[in-house]
Amino acid sequence: MAENLTPDVTIVGNGIVGLATAYALVRAGKTVQVISRDGVDEGTSSGNAAAVAAAEIMPIAEPGLWKKVPGMLIDPLGPLSLSVTHLPQLMPWFYRFLRACRPHNYAKGVAALAALMDGALDDHRAMLDHINGKQLLGGDGALFVYRSHAARDKAAHEWKLRQAHGIHVFPLERDGILQHEPALGPAAHCGYFTPRWATYRDPKELLRTLGGWLRDAGVTFTKAEVIGIVQEVGQVRALKCADGRDIAVQSLIIAAGAWSGRLSKQLGEQYPVEADRGYNTTLPNPGIDLKSYVTFSEDSFVAAPLSIGLRIGGAVEMAGLARAPNYQRSKALLALARRYLPDLNVAGGTEWMGYRPGSPDSIPVISRSARAANVIYAFGHGHLGLTLSVTTGKIVAQMIGDQDSGFDMTPYRIGRFD
Ligand SMILES: Cc1cc2nc3c(=O)[nH]c(=O)nc-3n(C[C@H](O)[C@H](O)[C@H](O)COP(=O)(O)OP(=O)(O)OC[C@H]3O[C@@H](n4cnc5c(N)ncnc54)[C@H](O)[C@@H]3O)c2cc1C
Repeated sequence: MAENLTPDVTIVGNGIVGLATAYALVRAGKTVQVISRDGVDEGTSSGNAAAVAAAEIMPIAEPGLWKKVPGMLIDPLGPLSLSVTHLPQLMPWFYRFLRACRPHNYAKGVAALAALMDGALDDHRAMLDHINGKQLLGGDGALFVYRSHAARDKAAHEWKLRQAHGIHVFPLERDGILQHEPALGPAAHCGYFTPRWATYRDPKELLRTLGGWLRDAGVTFTKAEVIGIVQEVGQVRALKCADGRDIAVQSLIIAAGAWSGRLSKQLGEQYPVEADRGYNTTLPNPGIDLKSYVTFSEDSFVAAPLSIGLRIGGAVEMAGLARAPNYQRSKALLALARRYLPDLNVAGGTEWMGYRPGSPDSIPVISRSARAANVIYAFGHGHLGLTLSVTTGKIVAQMIGDQDSGFDMTPYRIGRFD
């Protein structure tokens, strides 16, 4: 491609972070190309639990978590599993994860996530208004369910933290949770409701609508796998693709989800992003109605009412990018769901697994490269990539335009673990 035809910005990755970034760049008047290995509705962003979970300001690495890990690992189908063969590769990530559990690091993590979350819902709504997609987002609020008062009391610090960050939360007794969700059985004892949450009707529908809008706005999409990066005097000049093509770039955004570490490594920036594999099953005829998103706190799974059915999902499986999915996890989550939702019809479900791009401290990387002046990283959003995608895109577009985003970007630097 001749230099003058090269778009202003090239994005590797067409997940929700890549597309939301393309959107912000188009709004800023840039020409954009998106390069990705998979179709727009095929990857991790297409099958998630669809929540704009703007009340989730707590990193996973919390003080004292290490004490709970052995118990979680005892049950092979429990909320957390580690592949023994993957352990040597996981160690650098796990070491940093343990450091992130220290109270002062946790406090920094909460502040960093809360800062991004503050405008996340408004950012989604503004983008949807603009692309004519308001109807894609519904289901205001989320219910968190506990099996006992003792369990809810154990989580009280989380709810206090949310309140301290201006998030409205409402404690509910059994009659209160039943008013919200009559389908809950006797196992659901009490809970909390927060309105700072919304749920997409279907994440695939979002990707297709946003992708279509971007195409109409002149963004070009190229299907290719990037396998190499051509650098010259501190700048990336081109991307080498598996099909033999070289694609010239001006500015480059790496938004390749759980695969981003492979690309940053080629620029000499080793970042420990791990595939945090999650599972779900979408039930087309669940036999019950849920009005809003429900999190079953002690059992670490969720139920998301989508336009295509009820999606039951969760699990954290640290087993790398290559291992085949173990759909026994999806089945285990359904069995758990039936404990809380006795009338749930689990027949005819579609099982799915996706790769959350996990940062050890749950904080995304939104950062200029220290090695190549024309590269910006946008990855590592873990469990919250959909939620934080539009805000991330906005910040990246401001970085490209050398504008001040108003955020202190220190916590999101790629070099923070060096
Ligand atoms: C079970 C589950 C439930 C979830 N629920 C929620 C939720 O409710 N709310 C929420 O906010 N988040 C949720 N998440 C997390 C969210 O889905 C992810 O954080 C998000 O999808 C990551 O988006 P991304 O654009 O960074 O990466 P991806 O969606 O993975 O996209 C990256 C793309 O980059 C491409 N790519 C990678 N390497 C290359 C290469 N070398 N060359 C070319 N292309 C490449 C791939 O094709 C891929 O499509 C969930 C995740 C899972 C697994």
